[in-house]
Amino acid sequence: MAIELALSEVAADVFELRLPIPFEDGLVNVFMFKAGQEVDLLDCGMNAEDSLEAIQRALAQLGARRLRRLLVTHIHPDHYGAAGVLAGEGRADLYIHRLEVPLVHPRYVELEHLVVEVKTYLLANGVPEDEAELLSNSQRALSQVVKTADPSVQLDGAEFVEMGHHMLRVEWTPGHSPGHVCLHDSQAGILFAGDHILPELSPNIGLHPQSTPDPLHDYLDGLRRMAGLRPSHVLPAHGRPFTGIADRVDDLIAHHARRLDQIVEIVGRRDARAGGTANQEKSAWQVALDLWGPRENLYEKRLALQEGLAHLQALAVEGRVRKSVTPGSVRWRLS
Ligand SMILES: [Zn+2]
Ligand SMILES: [Zn+2]
Repeated sequence: MAIELALSEVAADVFELRLPIPFEDGLVNVFMFKAGQEVDLLDCGMNAEDSLEAIQRALAQLGARRLRRLLVTHIHPDHYGAAGVLAGEGRADLYIHRLEVPLVHPRYVELEHLVVEVKTYLLANGVPEDEAELLSNSQRALSQVVKTADPSVQLDGAEFVEMGHHMLRVEWTPGHSPGHVCLHDSQAGILFAGDHILPELSPNIGLHPQSTPDPLHDYLDGLRRMAGLRPSHVLPAHGRPFTGIADRVDDLIAHHARRLDQIVEIVGRRDARAGGTANQEKSAWQVALDLWGPRENLYEKRLALQEGLAHLQALAVEGRVRKSVTPGSVRWRLS
């Protein structure tokens, strides 16, 4: 039985389509921009039958003959997964920030090198061998819901791209992913926020082999820039559209400030189990366990470690904690 199509007009000739995904809150929002018989698409959901069927039905309902452009905010499977089905020779042109492009092949096509690199990174950050083996392999499943495509246009940020009748400015907002972009429609007062600003969740910001070197500061900087655009409406990729970007950005910044303080406290805490002295060195894995407790779900474990590391790195950059490295270990202590 076909599911009901979640398609609604959110601005003049701009339609939000909600597609099923097996994580987050179960839905990703993509946007269709209609101009006559052509449609441009912002994000495309996963390479999965029910999701692709919903896109085809939505295109038919809008009377579209052709998908012209596919612009993706970043290469996570729920935003980019179906790119190889919809874009490419004889199909839509793919627009993507250039810092996302080199992430695609190692993550979704030939994974062996990245799996080894991730395992080395996990071990250096204190993850036990058996867990490191499981966690480094956990991304293999994701590659099954992604079909890659070669980009037609690589974005730097600050470009204007015509989507339907709307002129959108590309706003490069690294942090959640190195080449994440938001799209700003200044005429309509709308920010298409991707995963950068969500109404309910705090997007995952992680330090890992494919991230930028200081993703939390990148992210916070991007939040302030997006609030400075003063859009009246924010259309996120997860959750419902919302107003009041300044308040939401303040909340997110305050959330991370609290988390940074919490992590400083954990880094300085004496680890009684290890019979430790005050301010002994800790691994990010110990810090993540202290902060979030043990987690069952593999994917969540890895996200927790990456999120903890992003905060530790920001603290090291600010000089509040001290980071030391050897070939096999990364450790943190109070400065
Ligand atoms: Zn994402
Ligand atoms: Zn997402």
